[in-house]
Amino acid sequence: MAGALQRLIKLLRQLPGIGEKTASRMALAILAAPDNYGRALAHGVSEVVERVHPCARCGNLTELEICGICGDSRRDPGLICVVEKVPDLMAIEASGEYQGLYHVLSGVLNPLNGTGPEQIRAAQLLGRLDSGVREVILATSSSVEGEATALYLKQHIEAQGITVSRIASGIPVGGELEYADQNTISRALAGRRTI
Ligand SMILES: [Zn+2]
Repeated sequence: MAGALQRLIKLLRQLPGIGEKTASRMALAILAAPDNYGRALAHGVSEVVERVHPCARCGNLTELEICGICGDSRRDPGLICVVEKVPDLMAIEASGEYQGLYHVLSGVLNPLNGTGPEQIRAAQLLGRLDSGVREVILATSSSVEGEATALYLKQHIEAQGITVSRIASGIPVGGELEYADQNTISRALAGRRTI
């Protein structure tokens, strides 16, 4: 097989959920697609890499310094929902129930792989908590690491005199917001309780 094709397959295989067979099929489909698809795809990938970056405030993805959610004056700045990753934020946004702001940790505490508070944007979260913030909703997953992260954050946020709540169960144990349906997310948010 041509070297360039092999290199593309190898790159595609690095994506989550893509095995050798799927990567090969994708690479061949790109090659077989009408004229400009391959070039448009390559351009789309480099455009995303060059332009999209985390929001300086919340960690959501944006092409600007501050994302559309942080910059939206209709959102409630007194409420911050803490999530592990951007797909979780997207899932909550899709539910249409939440009108506050977010904070994306980009990970969870995990001593086994050396992920400490410095690696998960915890200090940035604590630094955002001014007098305007009434409540922080911890929406990390119910995995061991997600719970440990919630506990760590709760202790530090409470020290600043702010209410901390945890989303209600309904998201399966160890489950991820990213894959929950909109009703489940709405119920989990509405049923959050102070911890
Ligand atoms: Zn933002």
